[in-house]
Amino acid sequence: MRIGHGFDLHRVSDDPERQLVLGGVTIAGAPGLIGHSDADVVTHALCDALLGAAGLGDIGVHFPDTDPTWAGADSLALLAHVVSLVHAEGWTIANGDITVIAEAPKLAPHRLAMQERLRAVTRAPISVKATTMERLGPIGEGLALAAEAVALLEGDPS
Ligand code: MG
Repeated sequence: MRIGHGFDLHRVSDDPERQLVLGGVTIAGAPGLIGHSDADVVTHALCDALLGAAGLGDIGVHFPDTDPTWAGADSLALLAHVVSLVHAEGWTIANGDITVIAEAPKLAPHRLAMQERLRAVTRAPISVKATTMERLGPIGEGLALAAEAVALLEGDPS
C-alpha cells in the first residue's frame, strides 16, 4: 500500500464570467477561481494525492500551465489521465479523502454530487468534506479557496 497527500489553492476571480467548479461540479451564484484550467482545487488536490502515492511527481509536471492543451481544461479529464497513470503502474485506488477549505459558498448541498463525480472517474470511494477558516486569513476573507486530499493505493506494482 502507498499513501499520498495533495494540497491546492486558487485565488478567487473577480471576472463575473468565470464559473466556480469544485470536484467537477459547477456551483452557480459564486465567484470562480483564477487558473489555467477550470481551477478546480478539489480535483487538483486529489490528483496530487494520487500522483504522490504512486511516486509520479505532481500535477505541474503532467499538466504544465505553460501548455495550451490544458487552457480551460475540465479537471476531471486531468484526473482521468492521472488515474490511468496510476493504474498503468499496477496500483488500484483504495480510497481518497478530501477537505475543501472555503468561507463561501456553503458546500454541504454539493458534497454528494462532488463525491459522485470523483468516484465515477477514480472508480474508488472518495469522500468530500468542507470546513471554513473562521474568517481568518486570505481564505477566511474570501480571497482564495483551498483543498487538501489524501489517497491510498493498493496493489503489487512491478
Ligand atoms: Mg490547481
